[in-house]
Amino acid sequence: MAHEEYDAVVIGAGFAGLYMLHRLRGLGMSAVVLERAGGVGGTWYWNRYPGARCDSESYYYCYSFDRGLEQEWTWTERYPRQPEIRAYLDHVADRFDLRRDIRLSTTVTGARADADGRGWTVTTDTGRDVHCRYLVTAVGCLSAANVPDLPGLADFAGRWFHTGAWPHDGVDVTGRRVGVVGTGSTGIQAIPVLAAQAAHLTVLQRTPNYSIPARNGPLGAGEADAYKADYARIREVQAGSTNGHPFVVNPQSALDVGDDERERVYRAAWERGGLRFRASYADLLADEAANATASDFIRDRIREVVADPATAEALLPHDHGFATKRPPIDTGYFETYNRDDVTLVDVRADPVEAVEPGGLRLRSGARHELDDLVFATGFDALTGPLLRLDPVGPDGTALSDAWRAGPRTYLGLAVSGFPNLFTVTGPFSPSVLTNMPTSIEHHVDWIAGCLEHLRATGRDRIEADPAAEHEWGEHNRAAAEATLLPRAASSWYLGANVPGKPAVFMPYAGGFARYVATCDDVARGGYRGFRLSGSRAAA
Ligand code: NAP
Repeated sequence: MAHEEYDAVVIGAGFAGLYMLHRLRGLGMSAVVLERAGGVGGTWYWNRYPGARCDSESYYYCYSFDRGLEQEWTWTERYPRQPEIRAYLDHVADRFDLRRDIRLSTTVTGARADADGRGWTVTTDTGRDVHCRYLVTAVGCLSAANVPDLPGLADFAGRWFHTGAWPHDGVDVTGRRVGVVGTGSTGIQAIPVLAAQAAHLTVLQRTPNYSIPARNGPLGAGEADAYKADYARIREVQAGSTNGHPFVVNPQSALDVGDDERERVYRAAWERGGLRFRASYADLLADEAANATASDFIRDRIREVVADPATAEALLPHDHGFATKRPPIDTGYFETYNRDDVTLVDVRADPVEAVEPGGLRLRSGARHELDDLVFATGFDALTGPLLRLDPVGPDGTALSDAWRAGPRTYLGLAVSGFPNLFTVTGPFSPSVLTNMPTSIEHHVDWIAGCLEHLRATGRDRIEADPAAEHEWGEHNRAAAEATLLPRAASSWYLGANVPGKPAVFMPYAGGFARYVATCDDVARGGYRGFRLSGSRAAA
């Protein structure tokens, strides 16, 4: 059967896929988006767990590419809830008339490069396969769920869920004994909400976490209007930042100020709430002693909030410094442990041995009776979504073979041996260390510019050069090692949460603005580090 032919195929209809389609249309290219879900939204389609909301503030966790869109959409809370972000992305899909080129409920089952590396055949579970010149993965960094391989799970008599595949009708836990495994950003958002409804909540904690109060609240019309009026400046600050957030990091060292002054700065950041706490001092992620001042401050706050000293002690993170793992923000997380109907269990000291029909059995023999089990156990991050697609290059090499020892990419945008494949926010790009829409827009714009260049110069094949890729990998390693980030041994940035995953620090830690400058420079230099060729090339 003849395949349908497109200039480009995009996999995924979240923030990245929607904008990529819009840009491809703008270039006059034919394109289709293939999406596994029954709607647009990507991560915000799937993550419907109780308490799901964004940790970036609404006024900048959104697209910046269209001034009209910026002005007409009004966010209602400081941190948008999952349904509000989904509504926003639905609005974007309608406003830019994207839906006619999005194929929902379509899972990609394979992607194979043509022998000459000038195209891709993409197969799907609907049987409607497509062929394209360029393949763009817009599959997100956190879309492959990580469910622990616990013996006995199949025999559990209750219900179990992963937060990243939450039932669309919601889950009523009224009157039920619920167990939550995991205290990352997701668990920390879900735990207070589940505790308020369940008869009893048991939290199974492997690694205690730092968390900063979100201080969420409604966004008044005045505030929303003020942000709208200020977008030109806000976007400029984001573009020049380390993390794509619109705030400037205090250039001082935490060690260059007196104890009282430092305490005052941390108190103010704690009261203001949110991820901006990280911007309190310039060296929080560069110097262990500086980091310790923030870590100590947060541990003191946990001790203050949690009434039972033994529970407070068990909640104190000691194995990593603040923000060396992605820091959660919360609404009433530590306060939840003051409830009589919440129990904290340390599964680092006493791991889960097996799931039994009636609950969990720990190594010590202790049992926890449960009706529902919630896995807030995170994702096979960054590489997982790409390896699940497992594209096959022109010489028959699968990505899973090429990445056996860990990922390698050029700029997080391309992989040698896989021509005409672009990976939006792939490994070794700033991605999860940044405000995601900011990184996504940058990648999509860069890819669009590259496709324009290929067309203008009569090229139809682009492939990362292995030497440039190697150099970029080394630069990534050095950038990460210049920070404290790789020292958090249990970090998903390193793949440590997935048994057997190669320990490679995956996001680019050199900073967003520096990364953008590098990508611009590569483009200006005629796509240095890429091999460009074309059946129609003039020279
Ligand atoms: P996560 O940060 O990887 O946390 C997973 C939790 O499950 C950790 O506490 C982990 O312990 C625990 N865990 C994993 N496997 C386990 C096992 N076999 N036994 C016991 N415990 C286990 O995942 P997440 O909370 O879903 O968050 C992932 C990322 O998604 C975040 O860091 C953030 O970037 C993003 N996110 C964003 C938002 C937002 O902006 N609204 C909300 C949620 C998530 P260890 O630490 O010991 O591995």
